[in-house]
Amino acid sequence: LRVKEVDLNELLKCLVAEFKKQNGKDIIIETSLNKPVPPVLADCEKLNEIFRNLLSNAVAATGSGGTVRISSSPSFDHVAVTVEDWGSGIPVEIQQKIFEPFFTTKQSGTGLGLAIAKKNIEAHGGTIEVKSEPGWGTKFIVTLPVYNPGR
Ligand code: ADP
Ligand code: MG
Repeated sequence: LRVKEVDLNELLKCLVAEFKKQNGKDIIIETSLNKPVPPVLADCEKLNEIFRNLLSNAVAATGSGGTVRISSSPSFDHVAVTVEDWGSGIPVEIQQKIFEPFFTTKQSGTGLGLAIAKKNIEAHGGTIEVKSEPGWGTKFIVTLPVYNPGR
């Protein structure tokens, strides 16, 4: 990892701007990235890859005209980022499998996005968790530890 102090709000705003231009579908990407969050010590390329994967999965699960939301919030020792959609949802039986390499339900999926994301999040000392209800939607919650130079 090539780490430096990163403001997740800045990184995510950039990524969303890039994403809005590319995503061919007519999907609204809502953000809640204005509450200041403490810096994290992280590799920007890896972070971009992680959140690009989560956003593209959310967009893929969402029908035209739908909404995907990304938000950040500070906690005492970590920053949480959630990527939420109101798309297909994930059947309970497969929720445990989605982080496994090569698990995909897509015709031309690689099944690597979440496996790589999880590995990279854990390499940063963070966590990823999913909450999903079929027919209702999906929420991925990523946490990354706050950079505390005094420790
Ligand atoms: P891929 O996108 O190539 O299939 P991923 O590792 O990114 O691989 O995702 C694995 C699987 O998890 C997907 O095929 C899909 O079944 C499920 N999944 C991931 N994100 C979502 C989401 N936001 N909504 C519904 N299903 C999802
Ligand atoms: Mg994917």
